Amino acid sequence: MINKSSKIFIAGHNGLVGNAVFRKLKSERYKKLIFANRKKLDLLDLKKVEKFFALKKPDFLIICAAKVGGILANKNYQLEFLLNNLNIQNNLLIAAKKYNIKRTIFLGSSCIYPKKSKIPIKEEYLMTGKLEKTNEAYAIAKIAGIKHCSILFEQFNCDVACVMPTNVYGINDNFDIGSSHVIPGLISKFLDAKKINKDVTVWGSGKAIREFLHVDDLASAIVKILTIDKNKLNKIFHNEIPIFNVGSSESVSIKKLANMIKRITKFKGKVIFDKSYPDGTLNKNLDCKKIKKINWKPKIKLHTGLNKVIKEREKIA
Ligand code: GDP
Repeated sequence: MINKSSKIFIAGHNGLVGNAVFRKLKSERYKKLIFANRKKLDLLDLKKVEKFFALKKPDFLIICAAKVGGILANKNYQLEFLLNNLNIQNNLLIAAKKYNIKRTIFLGSSCIYPKKSKIPIKEEYLMTGKLEKTNEAYAIAKIAGIKHCSILFEQFNCDVACVMPTNVYGINDNFDIGSSHVIPGLISKFLDAKKINKDVTVWGSGKAIREFLHVDDLASAIVKILTIDKNKLNKIFHNEIPIFNVGSSESVSIKKLANMIKRITKFKGKVIFDKSYPDGTLNKNLDCKKIKKINWKPKIKLHTGLNKVIKEREKIA
């Protein structure tokens, strides 16, 4: 079992999720956290990844490293999203098997589920229908990752668990308007527009519904899954690979989200919805009964989380 002296490798510790996991483990007094920035370790290079594992000898692995981005970045850079994600996850999972990692956590996303899934989306809906086009490349890479994990679990007796979060947000996010997800994108747009007195353009119809999860809540779910007893996991998943949806149960339309950000930023100008941009999947609400079985629940309300992130961004902008 894990203890405070176990060596835990957080791959992608500088990203939104990895950083929150790092902070959470630190706050829980795990003493031997392993991490490496891009210069120190190129996760796209299998030889270097294997050498790193041989040298550092991690006991546990959390795969937060991934090529991620918002709806437009996913649509425009499909090859990068496909290949980078396949390569990063393959290299880490190959090393996890070779170096007998005691538990590996693999992160995916709610976009792995079919576009027209019944709502709320259950874990077992995976591979039951066509994917949303705008993020198909990313989703297929992540589905390949889940398959890789399930082979390791079933055929090689590796302890692996997969986590599928809804739309995650937080302070350490990418705030670039062109490539970010909707929350950081809109925060940047509203703060910029306020400064120079212009309108804000929201992509799509505003009708799409998303479930937003603060990254600190996701980090607490990941640490819970990392540390839970294996027998408990086997009981919940009947000896199959654990796949946990992680959501906030707080769903809003993009229109409502834009209004919330407008109010918090005290923006007084006009908000325009540009339907020439895609909406993506209309609703991606997740069914989170499985994660609730291990006594996890989100703590940060959307309004509180948005307020916090916006206040931090206002200091920087
Ligand atoms: P998705 O959940 O994979 O679609 O990821 P996003 O967070 O990028 O987009 C969620 C929804 O917000 C989509 O319907 C977008 O069209 C919409 N949206 C509205 N304005 C923006 C924006 O400025 N940036 C992004 N990324 N999405 C936006």
